[in-house]
Amino acid sequence: MTEPNWLSEGLDHIWLPYAQMKTAPRPAAAVGTSGVHIKMGDGRQLIDGVASWWTAAHGYNHPHILNAVRDQLSKMPHVMLGGLAHEQPYRLAKRLAAMTPGDLSRVFFTESGSVAVEVAMKIAMQYWRNKTGEKRNKFVSFKGGYHGDTFATMSVCDPEEGMHSLFAGAVSAQHVVDLPIDEDAASALDQLLSTHKDMAAVLVEPLLQGAGGMRVHDGATLKRLRALCDAHGVLLVFDEIFTGFGRTGAMFASEKAGVVPDIMTLGKALTGGVAPLAATIASEKVYAEFHDDDAAKALMHGPTFCGHALGCAAANASLDLFETEPRLEQAQAIETALRKGLSGLKNAPSVADVRILGAMGAVELAQDFSVDQARADFIEMGLFVRPLGRVIYLTPSLTVEMSDLNKLIEGVNEMTRRLGAPS
Ligand SMILES: *Cc1c(COP(=O)(O)O)cnc(C)c1O
Repeated sequence: MTEPNWLSEGLDHIWLPYAQMKTAPRPAAAVGTSGVHIKMGDGRQLIDGVASWWTAAHGYNHPHILNAVRDQLSKMPHVMLGGLAHEQPYRLAKRLAAMTPGDLSRVFFTESGSVAVEVAMKIAMQYWRNKTGEKRNKFVSFKGGYHGDTFATMSVCDPEEGMHSLFAGAVSAQHVVDLPIDEDAASALDQLLSTHKDMAAVLVEPLLQGAGGMRVHDGATLKRLRALCDAHGVLLVFDEIFTGFGRTGAMFASEKAGVVPDIMTLGKALTGGVAPLAATIASEKVYAEFHDDDAAKALMHGPTFCGHALGCAAANASLDLFETEPRLEQAQAIETALRKGLSGLKNAPSVADVRILGAMGAVELAQDFSVDQARADFIEMGLFVRPLGRVIYLTPSLTVEMSDLNKLIEGVNEMTRRLGAPS
């Protein structure tokens, strides 16, 4: 098997994400994409079950997005948003304000989800400083949650989930508690919010906690959260970086649950996987505390590439596709196929749980297994699937053909059988 030179030469210098560079298996070279297929350097085609960390909602290389980016590139790759206006971020802000629920209406652009959550946290803290002068510096978030890898966002991730436990003590202590999935957990949260008056906001991934293990909760949980936040006068932030843009079967999880947050974050599929872009969207109520004659009440945040023209062009084109192509119906068809193809695994002795919501299907194994080996075996099957801990999951592009989806589902069944077989 011939490996491209750039891989072997670059491997001595690149530092890869979430990887122990010494022991990580050699990554396989991808040289092209189309639809839900990844073309490998050795000529193989893999069916992608992950959509590049859940971003490629329309599959890869959708001509409408590529044309929009090409068009923008030839006119103006980007100019800074400080002091200059340009069309793509302005159009995108208006469209996101119109499509997100309730009065979420003021959009701040960043280039990564973590930074969008940082901005949401900063807005929440400054909201109180601007409104009442209170220094509310604390947040409530939930076990199983993931909100990013930067320092403030690490503090609101599940500390047990491993990725950030090394920094315990170095990141500010927040309240990471049980989701109020029942009345007992709700009264514990009620108690917490009654005794701590320094809470700026409650942060949650609505309906589906992604990177923390593909865990699902219901709309009633979010309704309890909304009621508790209202009762205690605390802001509610929905981190929809994973759940946004059809993943749960509705455009946004907040819509599906019928609960409107005070601040929402979006990222991942915002550009259909074409460019890095994220957004933090505040409600009228939140924004009103910043809109003032006093310069000190302004939001002092401004990434270099704020409102990047190419990213925003890709996002506008992605929103066109949600309007003109049947993405939500596709997400529902994926859900039906996942239920049919994966639910039976619930009874397998090696399986702890099967969770399906919208275009996400996850099989949690009862025991640890070699994730690296499983990933390599999936590639041998012609599939790109990357288990997270004990969880084997599928989050395909919403445009996946049923024949490809069925191969992914069959691959997950096969892997579960292999991992459950006595060794
Ligand atoms: C991926 C993710 C983030 C972080 O986004 P990055 O772009 O990786 O910084 C934050 N919150 C949720 C829910 C995510 O899934």
